[in-house]
Amino acid sequence: MKKLALHWQIILGMFIGIIFALILTNIEGGKLFISNWIKPFGTIFINSLKLIAVPLILASLIKGVSDLKDLSKLSSMGGRTIFIYLCTTLMAVVIGLVSVNIINPGNSISDQTREELLIAYSDNADDKILAANNQKNAGPLQPLIDLVPSNIVSATGDNRNMLQVIFFAILFGISMILIPSKKSKPVKDFFDSFNEVILKIIDLIMLAAPYGVFALLAALVVEAPSLDLFKALGLYGLTVLFGLLIMICIYIVLVKVLTGKSPSYFLKGISPAQLLAFSTSSSAATLPVTMERVQDHLDVDEEVSSFVLPIGATINMDGTSLYQAVAAVFIAQAFGMELSLYAQLGIVTTATLASIGSAAVPGAGMVMLVIVLAQAGIPEAGLALIFAIDRPLDMCRTVVNVTGDATVSMLVNKYRKK
Ligand code: ASP
Repeated sequence: MKKLALHWQIILGMFIGIIFALILTNIEGGKLFISNWIKPFGTIFINSLKLIAVPLILASLIKGVSDLKDLSKLSSMGGRTIFIYLCTTLMAVVIGLVSVNIINPGNSISDQTREELLIAYSDNADDKILAANNQKNAGPLQPLIDLVPSNIVSATGDNRNMLQVIFFAILFGISMILIPSKKSKPVKDFFDSFNEVILKIIDLIMLAAPYGVFALLAALVVEAPSLDLFKALGLYGLTVLFGLLIMICIYIVLVKVLTGKSPSYFLKGISPAQLLAFSTSSSAATLPVTMERVQDHLDVDEEVSSFVLPIGATINMDGTSLYQAVAAVFIAQAFGMELSLYAQLGIVTTATLASIGSAAVPGAGMVMLVIVLAQAGIPEAGLALIFAIDRPLDMCRTVVNVTGDATVSMLVNKYRKK
């Protein structure tokens, strides 16, 4: 029998996970069974993906940068990458703002629902506000300070420090270019083969992907809040989804027009990474698979993907920035506030920066949303309004984040100096 393509296997795993959980929630003890016996396999699957994120960034970036052999190539590719990332993020925020201003989802929230949501989720919102305040209280140059680790071992000890690891890897790669090639050869050979080993590990982990997503989705279903909340926040959720869908269409058009690759080629190539982004809500956890798909199925040179994707996973979050723009205006509308054009332009800037600063892990976009709200003078307690449906939206915006990274890697691949 012909083996089912990976993306179909993953979709099947997700689908069966949802059905399985829906059946078990109606059986006594079913929820507990899923929490105790199914969910751990999802956690193990995510852990195994996260496990290789840091080694992968180190190996692929050091290899990628040192392969470039001359620094002008690196700076032109770096400049281009950052520029395109910024453009797509700005585009996403604008799409979010336009959608939310046309659909006006906040106006449909009744006073009673607003009160209920504020009461139900105020504790959770407080946690996020606290986490964001720690970041907000820092000085303006704090992000720059955070970029440079004082100790590489402790930097690699936390997946949230990806930018620090990237900084070290680029520095290491540049230094390899600057010393005579005879001297750098042993280190280069080591990282080349280290990289191969990591890619093999990814292949092995992906064998478990259908089972991993089965467990992840089953656990999500039993932990989901009641359907009533979804209905109350339905229009807001749809606005975010509408914007995200437009972003995906824009990527498809960009890829078609600028690289000539058909939508089906692009989507087929990237879909396993998208499905994994959906199941894990983490661009960092998805990074290994995004790399593999882009290299092996979308014809992007390793030289490009190993540079563009780790950076993209950390700083390029188009889905997150779009969501932050919609959420900020939605909360303002729900509180009956009028946002001036000036305030909305402020949101363009803060949402762009906040998405760059968001870690590539579940829920990070919501923490950084606090900063967008504070800047625009919108009550931070409003986070409680959107808490209930944040997870499903997180799953969808992570798909867009990952698709955006893959798109940009294809564009940079097409237009680089050979
Ligand atoms: N979960 C998102 C990601 O990892 C970040 C966020 O928007 O919360 O890409």
